[in-house]
Amino acid sequence: MTGLPPPSRVKLGLVIDLDTCVGCHACAVSCKEWNAGGIAGPLTDTDAYGAQPDGVWFNRVHSYELAATESLLPAGEGGRRPDEGAVGGCGSTPAPNPHPNPSPDGRGAQPEMTLHFPRSCLHCETPACVTVCPTGASYKRAEDGIVLVDEDKCIGCQLCSWACPYGAREYSAVEGVMKKCTLCVDRIYNENLPESEREPACVQACPTRARHFGDLGDPDSKVSKLVAERAGMALMPELGYAPVNRYLPPRPRRTGDESAAGAQATSFDTPTLMQRWLDRILSR
Ligand code: SF4
Ligand code: SF4
Ligand code: SF4
Repeated sequence: MTGLPPPSRVKLGLVIDLDTCVGCHACAVSCKEWNAGGIAGPLTDTDAYGAQPDGVWFNRVHSYELAATESLLPAGEGGRRPDEGAVGGCGSTPAPNPHPNPSPDGRGAQPEMTLHFPRSCLHCETPACVTVCPTGASYKRAEDGIVLVDEDKCIGCQLCSWACPYGAREYSAVEGVMKKCTLCVDRIYNENLPESEREPACVQACPTRARHFGDLGDPDSKVSKLVAERAGMALMPELGYAPVNRYLPPRPRRTGDESAAGAQATSFDTPTLMQRWLDRILSR
């Protein structure tokens, strides 16, 4: 199994704003374009226009429709169970909510909304994908915390994919090796690019500026300040892998009949509610 370096002072990562992400997939396509020709390429697709398309995508965007009265409270506290169906994958239709008044004080109730959730490697501080690797192919860089795969050492056993609780590993059946988000390591340090372009391809492509890149180990960095201002969240921190990336929760939405002046926050009132929802969809 593979060891980890001492904790790095620099923790490079992404901050993704779920409030402004519109699910356009520009980040996913830009990621694919850059990385297919970079150090992690090729990113092969198979049966691309057929019945069973498959391929390697380091960044995948999932879209969910949340019904108007979906509660984010746990079942038993007035919330619905995951199998009760209001949250679905891309293109799904919200099911009727069997709990129209999810809690006596309305906590957890929300207007109908669509939420887009980009998913890529979180460059965890103590990543299970690294420690489980039998060959040293998966490793974490001491200098900046980026988690990478050395494809020359990878035997394609896929243990790392089983170990990652975030579904962030991408196996290339064509090459027989594991791949993943590189945090565009061949771009962010690339002195052949103008300094303004030394950012991950996904960050550069996002039309709504929902993606941010920087050092989350520095409390004075722009990304750290953004996380502090917007109560950014780590995904499933209780698992202990200490993801570096952060997600910014959607800002409160107003229902259609609320006046602009009197509108109260009804959606994702607290990061805790958002966290519960994310934990739930990631746990499936
Ligand atoms: Fe490894 Fe998954 Fe964490 Fe990325 S998100 S570092 S693949 S455990
Ligand atoms: Fe390591 Fe490759 Fe096996 Fe993943 S698939 S655990 S990177 S050898
Ligand atoms: Fe893809 Fe680079 Fe963004 Fe990672 S940081 S999701 S490799 S574009």
